[in-house]
Amino acid sequence: MSDTACKTCAFFEIKAAETDAKGECRFNPPTFLTEAEHKGMWPVVKSDDWCGQFEQNAA
Ligand code: SF4
Repeated sequence: MSDTACKTCAFFEIKAAETDAKGECRFNPPTFLTEAEHKGMWPVVKSDDWCGQFEQNAA
């Protein structure tokens, strides 16, 4: 069984208002989904998601 999951990744950030079931991926800077948006957003991921950029959290 692999431990690869967003919840153990160095780039996973749980927002205070969210449950620990999801959080923000901080691997890249915030992005704008459309040119009309004036506020960038980090992608929201589930704690059991993962991707090829996974890096084990040192904590
Ligand atoms: S999407 Fe990838 S880089 Fe982002 S928190 Fe999950 S495993 Fe880490």
